Formats: sequence, C-alpha cells, structure tokens
Amino acid sequence: MNSKPLLALLLFIFFSLTAFSQNKILTGGWVYDSSTKSFKKNTGVYLVNGLFGTGTENVMNWEVMSLTDADYILPGLIDLHAHYRVSYDNKAYDDTVAMPKIFLANGITSTFPAGEIESEKMWDLQKKIDTGNRPGPRILHSGPYFGTAAPDWNPDFTDQDVRNRVDDWAKKGAYGFKAKGITKEHLKVLINQAHKHDLTVTGHFDSGFRNSVNPQEAIEMGIDRVEHFLGGRLLPDSIPAYQSLKQIDPVDPRLEEIIQLYIENGVYFDATLATYGAIGLVDSPVFFDFAYEVQYFTPFTLNVIKEVKPSAFNELCALIYPVKKGILKRYYDAGGLITVGTDRPLLLDNYLGGGIGGFFIHREMAAMVEIGIPAAEVIFFATQQNAEALGIGDKAGSIAPGKWGDLMIIKGNPLEDINRTRSVHTVIKGGKVYSTMQLKNEAKGKLGPVGPIQ
Ligand SMILES: [Zn+2]
Repeated sequence: MNSKPLLALLLFIFFSLTAFSQNKILTGGWVYDSSTKSFKKNTGVYLVNGLFGTGTENVMNWEVMSLTDADYILPGLIDLHAHYRVSYDNKAYDDTVAMPKIFLANGITSTFPAGEIESEKMWDLQKKIDTGNRPGPRILHSGPYFGTAAPDWNPDFTDQDVRNRVDDWAKKGAYGFKAKGITKEHLKVLINQAHKHDLTVTGHFDSGFRNSVNPQEAIEMGIDRVEHFLGGRLLPDSIPAYQSLKQIDPVDPRLEEIIQLYIENGVYFDATLATYGAIGLVDSPVFFDFAYEVQYFTPFTLNVIKEVKPSAFNELCALIYPVKKGILKRYYDAGGLITVGTDRPLLLDNYLGGGIGGFFIHREMAAMVEIGIPAAEVIFFATQQNAEALGIGDKAGSIAPGKWGDLMIIKGNPLEDINRTRSVHTVIKGGKVYSTMQLKNEAKGKLGPVGPIQ
C-alpha cells in the first residue's frame, strides 16, 4: 500500500494541532507601531496559525498572555549579516548548535547569514527549525558566498557556471545572495541572474584594488545592498579599501557623490558599525560587559581564545571605527537607507572578547543611537526596513495582520534607553513562545569547537 496519503494525513493533523495550540492573544504593555515609529498602549496582539491576526477573530478558549506596564513588544529583530561561522586555525564551519539559540534568545527571529560556509548543513538546520525539531530563528538563506570567500569558488567559473549557482540556490529557496571576493564580470552575472528570480544581492567589496570591485561600480551594476563601507572615489584603487578608509575625513565634501549615488539608486547600506569598534577594542558604553559571554564557549574554545594577542587588524579597526561613525551619521542625515547587521563570525584566532553574534545586534543598535540616530528609527531599521531591504517587507518586520507572528518582549521603554533591548525576556516566532532564559541556558558551554576543527 502507498503510505504517502497516510503520511500526508498525519502531517495535516500534526500541523493543525500545533497551529491551533499557537493561537493566543497578548494583552497589556506597550507595542511598537511601525507606521508611526512609536509605542502605543497594547490593546491586543493576536496570533493566529503562526501569523498576526486582524484583531477581529473569535478568541474563545485562546491562550492569554497578560503583560505589565513595564513590558514593551517589538517586532522580531532581523539580522541581515548574521554569520553562524566559526573559524580557527585556517578552518571554518557553520555553528548549528549554539548560535541558533543565541540569536533567538536575543529577539532575533530572522537571520540572513550573508554567505554560508556549509550551505547544505544550514539548509538542513532550517528544515529542523521550521518543523519545530530545533529552536532557532528563521534562516533566510543566503546560499554560499559568490566569490573567493566560498571554499568551492573557482575564479575560472564561466558566466553559465555563475548563473547555474544562482538558479540552484534560488530553486532551493534562498532569500538573496552575498558576494565577497568577486570580480566585476562575475558580479554583473550574479546581479542579473538573481534579479531574474526577484532576489536581492549584497556584497562585501573593496576599493577596486587588484581586480576587486568598488561599491560604486556595484551600484552602477544594480546591486541592492552594500556591506561595511560606502566606497566611492575617495578609496583609490591603488591601495586596499581599509588602508584609505582609516584616513577619510567624514566631512570631506567629496563623500557627497557616493552618498547621493546610494540615495538615487535606493541602495541600502549595512555599516556593520559596532564590530569595528569591538575588534578595535574601543572603550565605549556600547561595548560594556563582554565578560559574561565567555560562559557560552566550550572549554576548548576558552583555551584557544586565552592565547590570542592583539594584531595589526585590531589597531586598524580602532582607527576605522570613528571614521565609520562619522560617515554613517552623515549618510543618515542625507537620507540614505540603512540596514542593520552584526557581522560577528566567531574568528577564534583573533577573538579578544569582542562579543558574540546575536548579543551583538543590541550593540549595533546602541552604536547607531550613540552617533545621533533616534532609537525609534534604529528599531525601524532593524525590523521593517531590514525586511524591505531583503524583499520581504510584506511578510515580516512589523506587527501587522497576516505577517509572520514574530516578536520580542523587553522590560522598559527602549526609546528612553536603547540598551533596554538587551532585556528581552520572551520571544515569539511563528506564534510559538520561547523563554530567553531557557534558550540561553541551553546554549551555555556549547559555542565553538570541542576540539581541533577537522
Ligand atoms: Zn561578514
């Protein structure tokens, strides 16, 4: 007998039951209204079959979660540069053990991994998360890197090879792609092919030095988003971007050209600001208290990072951080589109206590507020604007009828102090409730390799 119909029936019953049990209503507290970028009294957040309801549903026998006046409900955070990667001793892998829990515990309900090392493994993780077998955020797949950052990249790939790579991952369900270490020729093919699938492309570029691509050229090719630095002619192609970036004056009038290019083309900029300050060992209230995060590492990892000494890269990032702060504020004042991403792969060879991805999104938001962007805007960037930048603004990013039922609940008004986003205590993803404390406890002592990476 064919077992498929029976399996389908069982699956239907299973999903019907789980969906039913997820219907609930949140009363009390305050809720972030993305249309006005402000908090209003919560008159009821409805969760129906994993999505936000309209508020007109019949709530007989629904589960009620009562909140207090100190509770603030925010849409689930989206991290658009959310590495799961761990690297050590020239080897790297994607961590699927602790990072999913750490992201979710911090209120991050969606992650765009921005280039995966082990794409198949990440795909498998997503399936386990989606079927409820593992706690974790949504993985909005980036697929493998496009460029030399991918272990399997071949600089001699033909245009057709690049198109096939795009088609394969688009078919699997990737939400967008990330280029790193790519040539102009390959980038052009990548952007055109991704757009045929209605998927966005972002990139980590350089100055144009040694056949690299300057973000300015990427924008002219039609890229959707850019990571790390704006680019432009202030970065001469005779030296790597970071070498000129450290000496740029953020008020240099010549920056105007590249800022306007972003605005005219509607290109989003993900500054990954705080990671430069953390790597640069910059002392700022934004970076306080990394110490408690060491409890998440495995004993082997703790041993490895104990031996790490500061490098020239740490010094370079210390110089770059204030420049990036000035440039991002200027870009914001001009009306540039900003996204939020953490960019905290766990680079054990250089880990000096700079903070773990997941926790880090709160530092990224605090760093943006520190340079003068209002907290209400920053929350909008990390939620609705990030969703729009990835082309899923109609599905995610705000607490609105029919959207994914993803939110986080914190203590205290984050508009008064953005650091309060760290006080997240409850996360709801797809209508399912998670306790931050429980997720954190499950992740402790599990992050990083348990022995030398094979
Ligand atoms: Zn990155």
